Amino acid sequence: MVTTLDKEGIIEVLRSIPDPEIPVINIDELGILRDVILTGDHVEVVITPTYSGCPAMTQIESDIRAKLHEHGIDNIVVRMTYQPAWTTDWMSEEAKEKLRKYGISPPGRMHNAIVPLVVDSVVCPHCGSFQTAVVSEFGSTACKALYQCQDCKEPFDYFKSI
Ligand SMILES: [Zn+2]
Repeated sequence: MVTTLDKEGIIEVLRSIPDPEIPVINIDELGILRDVILTGDHVEVVITPTYSGCPAMTQIESDIRAKLHEHGIDNIVVRMTYQPAWTTDWMSEEAKEKLRKYGISPPGRMHNAIVPLVVDSVVCPHCGSFQTAVVSEFGSTACKALYQCQDCKEPFDYFKSI
């Protein structure tokens, strides 16, 4: 017995860990946290990296260890699983809404109902305009692209859909 917490309790603890790059979203909402397995002598946390080589994963692993340590759990195995590969579809709708409020356009292009012949667009998180253009395929991190709104002129990050 390594802890009095059950699996749900541990998941609840892990939900307090934010994504290092997007502090408004936790690792569960992002879809990184895949499973928690309790064995007789340790707790195994299974995570799937978002983008391969994303430096945030090292940070997330040490955050998991630190957070569980706070709850008296010291025997921790953090296992990375790459199959199936992470997809932005694992991000909850709530998480996408939080991203938008944070000023990042969530993954997935939206169909422009007003001008249906135009290809699906990245929507401006500030004013909701479909008139946006890519400035750079790499924004503040490799996971994001930099866009600018043609209407409100604000630049913003778009969380790339994969
Ligand atoms: Zn705008």
